Amino acid sequence: MKSVAKQAEDEYFAKQEIERKKQRDLERKKNLLKDFEDGLKRAHYMCCPKCGHKLVEMDYQNIKIDKCSKCEGIWLDQGELELLSKKKNVSDSISAMIQLGLEYATKAKCDIKEKLKKGKK
Ligand SMILES: [Zn+2]
Repeated sequence: MKSVAKQAEDEYFAKQEIERKKQRDLERKKNLLKDFEDGLKRAHYMCCPKCGHKLVEMDYQNIKIDKCSKCEGIWLDQGELELLSKKKNVSDSISAMIQLGLEYATKAKCDIKEKLKKGKK
């Protein structure tokens, strides 16, 4: 039969071991979540949220905007819409953005056609 002191000591170490296990499990879960989020970012970074094709970064009045190389959708990062709306002439800004987008889309399509032609040779 264990002494009272020995029992208390065993309980103390058992609680410590449980606490260490909880910390290890928590750390493992944090790492799994981080790996999952990193994987999502790698898989979807600079891809169109609508059609999944590559996004092309364009510079418009020192604001980096993303345009889809396939569906031609224009995507803004956090805060960029507010920055655009603060430009002096918003309607001129939007018109210029559309023009810029059309030029990029045309260039992207030409690049893709050239790559396809080169691939066939
Ligand atoms: Zn798209």
